[in-house]
Amino acid sequence: KNYREIDAMAIAEDILEGNRISLARGITLVESNAETHFHQAQKMIERLLPHTGKSVRIGITGVPGAGKSTFIEAFGSHLCSIGYKVAVLAVDPTSSLTGGSILGDKTRMEQLARNPKAFIRPSPSGGKLGGVHRKTRETMLLCEASGFDVILVETVGVGQSEVIVRDMVDFFMLLVLTGAGDELQGMKKGIMELADAVIINKADGSNEAPANKTRVEYNRILHFLQPATKGWETKALTCSSLYETGISNIWEMIQTFEQETKESGVFLHRRQHQVKEWIHSMITDQLHMSFYHHSKVKGLLPKVENEVASGTKPVAAAVDELFKVYLSGE
Ligand code: GDP
Repeated sequence: KNYREIDAMAIAEDILEGNRISLARGITLVESNAETHFHQAQKMIERLLPHTGKSVRIGITGVPGAGKSTFIEAFGSHLCSIGYKVAVLAVDPTSSLTGGSILGDKTRMEQLARNPKAFIRPSPSGGKLGGVHRKTRETMLLCEASGFDVILVETVGVGQSEVIVRDMVDFFMLLVLTGAGDELQGMKKGIMELADAVIINKADGSNEAPANKTRVEYNRILHFLQPATKGWETKALTCSSLYETGISNIWEMIQTFEQETKESGVFLHRRQHQVKEWIHSMITDQLHMSFYHHSKVKGLLPKVENEVASGTKPVAAAVDELFKVYLSGE
């Protein structure tokens, strides 16, 4: 579908009025890999920017089977029932590589999907380097301009995507299961240090007591780790997404977090830092692309690689040669 510039501005106006069809169209524009759509999307976002930033942005991660979609269904429904408008976005680290998806298949979160106060959007595909990152952040802005108060960003716990999502949210949660004793030892300390809360899910039935034990264990360990947010002690809580218990406690904790970090200035500081980081990661991506797509660089690269491999040229000299070619223009 071809959007004209005037359409992009019309979409922006409709988004501001809370029109969901326009919101979906605006996101499609943001997600498009076409050059012309890119410029139109940027105009649209510029129009919306003054109306963004007022939501609470929450990231949720956990291994497959931890219960993320069940949790989001319960948590999102709870938020809707107490008056909030909730948008659910996903960052699927595999989509850009395989074209497939481990998140975002339509059968998930059916109940929430039908809720008029909720909006669910599957993960965009990457298109190019850093693409998912940009698209999700821009989609978040569109949702905010459209009046959503809480944005949930889901990702699967497979390394890099957690860091990406951490960099775009205010509050980050790690969903885990009971019996973490061994898992705790093996779990990367790095991931725990990204989290503002560790949620032990499936604390129901015969699993409730072990879940509580796990909570105590996590709290003990978290105490020794570097907190993700200055002035906030990362906490472990239990819940059952299936039976919807412990869900309101989690929202209360996030509200306390928001209040405290807004008072201390940490909240605003993080947001400002995040957009700066966004700029730099986009610059890095574009430089990377521009370098490797440069025709003379492409021509010269195999030759210097061979020279380095055969031991006739030092690595730094080879890189220097490539950059001279790159910077000399076409
Ligand atoms: P995801 O892969 O992290 O999105 O996990 P799902 O939400 O698909 O959940 C995986 C499985 O765990 C499903 O069979 C769920 O029904 C189940 N499950 C999720 N949350 C709970 C819970 O709180 N209690 C119990 N008993 N089962 C749960």
